Amino acid sequence: MPTCRNCGREWSWKQTFKKMITLNTAMECPHCGEKQYYTKQARRRTALLTFLTPFIILLNFLDISPYILVGVYLVYCILIMGVFPFLIELSNEEEPLW
Ligand SMILES: [Zn+2]
Repeated sequence: MPTCRNCGREWSWKQTFKKMITLNTAMECPHCGEKQYYTKQARRRTALLTFLTPFIILLNFLDISPYILVGVYLVYCILIMGVFPFLIELSNEEEPLW
């Protein structure tokens, strides 16, 4: 789980997830209220994971039973939601991507 660089306290999964879905680059720490940003590494890791999404969607065009498809989507969503907060690292400043 990500740790705030300002106050050093850990964010819970729920707190991280709530900040994540706002898609803001700046996320306020739930403990101290200071703005936190994704680190370069964290942004690259999460980009890699979202990069996989089109491939999952492509499964639609294959001759796969809809029941299996729904199962695959569910597992994929749970995986993304479960894994994302673990990939996030926080920084006090917004780092340039490259
Ligand atoms: Zn904090």
